[in-house]
Amino acid sequence: MAELVIVGGGIMGLWAGVHAVRAGMETLVLDASWPGAGASGGLLGALMPHLPERWNEKKQLQLEALASLEDEIAALEAATGLSAGYARTGRILPLAKPHHRALAEARATEAETRWRVGGRSFSWKVADRPDVEGWPSSQASAAGVVVETLAGRLSPRATIAMLCAFIERAPNAAIRRGARVVSVDGAARQVMLEGGERIGFGDLVIAAGPGAFPLIDGLVQGASAGSGRPVKGQAALLDGVEAKERLVLFQDGLYIVPHDNGTVAIGSTSEDEFVDPATTDSQLDDLLARALALAPALAGGRVVERWAGLRPRAIGREPMVGRLAEHSGVHVLAGGFKVSFGLAHLLAEAVVDDIVGRPAKRKLPASFDVGEHVRLMRQA
Ligand SMILES: Cc1cc2nc3c(=O)[nH]c(=O)nc-3n(C[C@H](O)[C@H](O)[C@H](O)COP(=O)(O)OP(=O)(O)OC[C@H]3O[C@@H](n4cnc5c(N)ncnc54)[C@H](O)[C@@H]3O)c2cc1C
Repeated sequence: MAELVIVGGGIMGLWAGVHAVRAGMETLVLDASWPGAGASGGLLGALMPHLPERWNEKKQLQLEALASLEDEIAALEAATGLSAGYARTGRILPLAKPHHRALAEARATEAETRWRVGGRSFSWKVADRPDVEGWPSSQASAAGVVVETLAGRLSPRATIAMLCAFIERAPNAAIRRGARVVSVDGAARQVMLEGGERIGFGDLVIAAGPGAFPLIDGLVQGASAGSGRPVKGQAALLDGVEAKERLVLFQDGLYIVPHDNGTVAIGSTSEDEFVDPATTDSQLDDLLARALALAPALAGGRVVERWAGLRPRAIGREPMVGRLAEHSGVHVLAGGFKVSFGLAHLLAEAVVDDIVGRPAKRKLPASFDVGEHVRLMRQA
């Protein structure tokens, strides 16, 4: 029995663990394999803002999340003595055609009014060429570049290690590896593990990435569709490239992310259909070729890792957060899809605030509410 049981030691579950520890809750994180065994143990760690246009509450939340993550990470780094490999690097986007530039210039005006939070502001500026030649290539940036100052990156694996250290140093918290939850009994407030062991909970947070969906499906009555599905992604890591201080480079779903330790991560494919979730293939080779064309400086690099993982995509295509109406002790924190690293600390905080009965610090978009996802499961 634990006051709070968290299923899943990915970025979502571990941030929930951090907030629960801070709230003084007795906390047990259960992971089927080990923390970071899922997509949270990947390579990229890009922290990307939405485009500054057609502003809405989702974009506002993400702005607040990206702005606040810096201090959150600094506090945990100070507490643990570990680095998350975080930096607000900013991002550069090539503009290939004059009409791309016109669009980008309109966004600059919007960023000036929208990208302001807590006394800070971030910029989105159009320039004729990049500061560093070839980052991106002159061909890709024939009509100029956008340089924005909000984006950043962290090291996914270092961040997971830091969050684990914070949780495991707390006297009232533990992480149990190799503990796969196979079902949840919301009425009895128990989870059942593979092997038959039952663990009681006061509250439960289901934060198991793609593994959350079958558990949620088992709790929702009258649904005609599942709560979500995995979307595969492949990425690669290079070393031997002089790119440490450079901006994250982004073009049409291709991310080139220079990390603190001198490596450069390149991602990602997005695959709805796949046979093996863990293998890489020619789609990653194609992505690497695109990266090389976009940033010729990568040519001297050596691929030191090829990696694949599964993103959790909820039925409503947005993160799935909150208390399940029919099981008041069961909370969901899943479906972060492509943006979990930038948002997880705020979403987890909202869940823990609700559990401990603290007023919500901010209102999450209605489309994130687990109740909205459940409605979609029933109407499909
Ligand atoms: C190639 C690729 C690139 C990406 N790039 C970025 C990026 O740059 N920026 C970004 O923000 N996001 C990115 N993402 C998405 C991001 O990685 C995911 O959204 C995020 O890691 C999901 O975190 P999670 O905690 O919800 O799930 P996961 O990371 O999947 O963690 C879930 C954990 O739960 C455990 N688990 C599963 N089932 C059970 C069970 N039944 N019982 C107990 N434990 C269980 C697993 O072992 C795992 O450790 C990328 C994803 C991929 C695949």
